[in-house]
Amino acid sequence: MLFRDIIGQEDIKQHMQKALREGKISHAYIISGEKESGKMMLAKTFSQALFCEQGGEEPCGECPSCKKVAHDNHPDLIYVRHEKPNLISVDEIRDQVVGDMSIRPYSAKRKIYIVEDAQLMNASGQNAILKSLEEPPAYVTMILLTDNASALLQTIRSRCIQLNIQPVMKEREQIKRQLMRTYQMPEYEAEAILNFSQGNVGKAYVLANSEGFRTLMDEVLSLVFSVFSMQQIEVERKAAEIKTAVKNKELDVKEYLDLLVLWYRDVLLYKATANLEYIYFKDHIREIRKQAKRADFENINNVLQKIEECRAQVRANVDLELVFILLMQVMKEI
Ligand SMILES: [Zn+2]
Repeated sequence: MLFRDIIGQEDIKQHMQKALREGKISHAYIISGEKESGKMMLAKTFSQALFCEQGGEEPCGECPSCKKVAHDNHPDLIYVRHEKPNLISVDEIRDQVVGDMSIRPYSAKRKIYIVEDAQLMNASGQNAILKSLEEPPAYVTMILLTDNASALLQTIRSRCIQLNIQPVMKEREQIKRQLMRTYQMPEYEAEAILNFSQGNVGKAYVLANSEGFRTLMDEVLSLVFSVFSMQQIEVERKAAEIKTAVKNKELDVKEYLDLLVLWYRDVLLYKATANLEYIYFKDHIREIRKQAKRADFENINNVLQKIEECRAQVRANVDLELVFILLMQVMKEI
């Protein structure tokens, strides 16, 4: 990945490329931003440029060093691993960072340590990192990635250059076009993905890449199209189907509900404004128009409210079959 292929984040890219150009690389960086917002992508591109044998402000992508970084097997790029999902232990920091730092780089002029989810370091882990940040060998660069920089000690933060990832709403159109082009998806699907990811580019690409997303979309559309005319027995069958699909991990129930909300929000929006501008499911405007005409505001609000109730029930592990039977009964009113 080149800097110029990363959408948005102009400030961070400019900072990194200026540092590369001037050869003024800090010993430590914090890249903070919400989950899947592209922190690792930026850290990796920066590392690649730092190791690149061409030494430019973009990685060349072709030299052996660039290729090793791309394949995650550059010996001087160390990703700090941790065993427990919610903790980076002090021993892991000692083994992989503090103890390793005095060993000179294997093949490059530099050694880069990337600590993903740095907020998972407890106080002793952070103190160990802090010690190593006080007098690091000249060849060391540490990159801490976090979705919660305030969980890091002030003393660590003050020793790092902090780069904050901004949600990229203003580049929304650009991302949308790129999604449509890259994944050959219709506009409404790209819009839906963007709406889900709320300007969070990494997540948008994860969704666009996920095979399941299109299937999920089709599933939801087929339900909202047909629920109106379903007999009770079909409702029950459908609910059982959904439960099985969730159990087999073929369907993410949270995303399913998100898409249902998106549909009924469209119906509501169209009923209120008759304006197509903010409609996501533009390709299905005939059905939206039909439902908007058929339902009154109360019906639509009931469904939206019911979906919110379902979310709470899903979190509370209420039987999914029952949850969906009740939901569909409300949806049938539209
Ligand atoms: Zn290169």
